[in-house]
This record gives sequence, structure tokens and C-alpha cells, in this order.
Amino acid sequence: MRISELAAQIPLIDNHCHGTINHELERDQYEIYATEGDWLPRHGLSVLDEQFGVLTRGLVAPLLGLEKHCDPETYWKRRREVGQEALVAQLLPLTGIETFIVDTGFKSDNILTPDQLAAVGNGQSREIVRLETAAERMIKNSTPATFIQDYSDYLSTESAQAVGFKSIIAYRYGLDFDPDKPSASEVEQAVAEWISEIDATDKVRLSHPVLLRHVLWEAVNHKKPIQFHVGFGDSDINLHRCDPTQMTEFIRRTVDTGTNIMLLHCYPFIREAGYLAHVFPHVYLDTGAAINYTGLEHHSLIRHSVEMAPFGKMLFSSDAFGLPELYYCGASIWRSAIGDILQGWVDSDGMGQADAEKYLTWLASTNAERAYNL
Ligand SMILES: [Zn+2]
Repeated sequence: MRISELAAQIPLIDNHCHGTINHELERDQYEIYATEGDWLPRHGLSVLDEQFGVLTRGLVAPLLGLEKHCDPETYWKRRREVGQEALVAQLLPLTGIETFIVDTGFKSDNILTPDQLAAVGNGQSREIVRLETAAERMIKNSTPATFIQDYSDYLSTESAQAVGFKSIIAYRYGLDFDPDKPSASEVEQAVAEWISEIDATDKVRLSHPVLLRHVLWEAVNHKKPIQFHVGFGDSDINLHRCDPTQMTEFIRRTVDTGTNIMLLHCYPFIREAGYLAHVFPHVYLDTGAAINYTGLEHHSLIRHSVEMAPFGKMLFSSDAFGLPELYYCGASIWRSAIGDILQGWVDSDGMGQADAEKYLTWLASTNAERAYNL
């Protein structure tokens, strides 16, 4: 069978995704969930006229009985008629994702739980524990003197069934963090400062640089893979501080700890991430979210991700949140891009058919099984 045909049907492990929204969406909500931006487009424009919107109208519209490439208003009207719940039920099984590795740390009240997501998608789910969210959940029951032990215990309990952790230090500080593990007295002092900030503002948000580093090093002790948000995201990040090569020293110091470093999204630092995966044995990467938002130009990203990264180091993820269209389009375009790239190498006789089939399987699921010890 041609590699491109195999790629269209091979079962996938989605190594980073979130739940879909569990209620009906108004137009404004849809517009916000279909972008990493935090504001609605101005001048009455719509995200359906951006890359992901064009992709959606090309790939999803025909599944809703509409003409391919229908206009934005027609798509929205039909989507509203079908409804969020029915659309989730229709699109998720069509993705061919057999395992959803779900990050539950973000807006987890109005989205499907990992179990619900797996049930509707005819797959199974595994969980990822967000390090900063875990600290924010336990801090009110802790003290500066007991925090180190309390957090360690809490993380053990929270992650008992989880396959890994997620760090959003890119959002809360930047990837140019100090690679040193903070001392116990530094942590105690930082917890005291954090607690007074919570008392003063009534907001529980972990952004203290010492504690962000502490929770990372604590995760390293637990020896499960740590996912890092890398590169583009919403307007909270400063992109120039999200280049993964800025955390090279941390990566260097964790080579022999038994912890894998999973670089997520990576746009536009795909080549930097590929380099890190090439030289460090415990570094992996994906292009989740970036493929949906680069829409019709997703091929070049995926091509960059397999330039230098070993074939055993690149993973699939959708990074879908909220909209089933993100799942469906993410899986579809990843399949077509990776299929076209491998097929091209076979057609030019640069790669044999057997190798292409082997690498396709690795990229689709085996790499995730190895990295997360599934
Ligand atoms: Zn995500």
C-alpha cells in the first residue's frame, strides 16, 4: 500500500490535547476558541477567514452536508444547527486517534473529562498533571516550612495514574530560567512571599521564579516525562523567551535523570527543537496547535520537524482545546503531510518502502508509547 494511504488510516496517539467544550457555543465563543488570540477580530472580520477557518471550511464543511469551501456564514449557520455535542460525537471518531493524552490543567470545568473524551472518540485516555496547577491547588493547605514535602506528596497522589507532567514555565516566566535547583531555604522564602501575595490579592497564581523551578525539579524526581510549552501560544507569552534552546542547560542536567523532555508546539522554533532532539537522548518534539493555525502551510512545519530530529523522536499531537474541528483538522492534515513527505522520499528512491512504513508507525504511535512508557 502507498505510504500516503497508510498514513490516512494509521491509528494515532495524540500526545497533547484537552477536552472539548461541553455546552453550546455562541458565535463569539467559537471565534475565540478557533484562535490563540485573546480578542475577537476587528472590523467585523471572522477567524473563519484565517488559515484555520479556511482549513475548516475545506475539510469539515462537506461532513456537515455543505459544499467544500463554503462561505464563513454558511459554515457557522450549519454548525449552530448541528450543535457542539453532535459535532463532537461526529468528528472525534473520524480522527482515528486511539489514545488521547489529556492535559487537564486548563479551564477544566466546562470541558469533557478525559474519560468522556475517550468514550465519545472511541479511544482511551491517559492523563497529564500540570505542575503549576497542582501547586495552586495545594498551597492553601501548606506552609513555608512544610511546602517541599507537601508538594511532593500531593504530586505523587495526583500523578499516580498520570503518564506525565506539563510545565507552563514558558508562560509564567520564560524558558530562559535559571537551571539550578533551588535550595530548601530559597523555596521556604519563596513560599512565604507567594502566600503573602495570595493574601494580598486573593489570587492563586504561581509565577514566583524560584517556585516555578522547584516544581520542575520536583517533577524530575518523579521520573515521568515533562511536557514543556514551547514557542507560540496566547498573548500571555513573550515569544522571544520561548525558544527551547534557552533551556539547554536544564536539558543537559536532566539527561541521566530518567525524565524525558517533551517539547510541545515549538512554532516557530521547530528546527531548534529538532536540533535538541537530535543531540539529547531524552528530548522529543511535536508540532501540535501550530499545524492547525498554519493551516494550508502546515507541510513546511512538519517537514522541518523531521529534518534533523531522529525518526524516533517526533510525535503527533493536535493540542485541540474546545472545538472538535481542531481535533479533526489537526489529525487530517498531520496524516496527509507526513504521508506526502514519506511517500515523496520513497518515490525518489531516497527511502525504502519498509523504512517508510516503520517510521510512519513510530511517528503515529510508537514514539509516544516509548516516551511515555505506555
Ligand atoms: Zn495545550
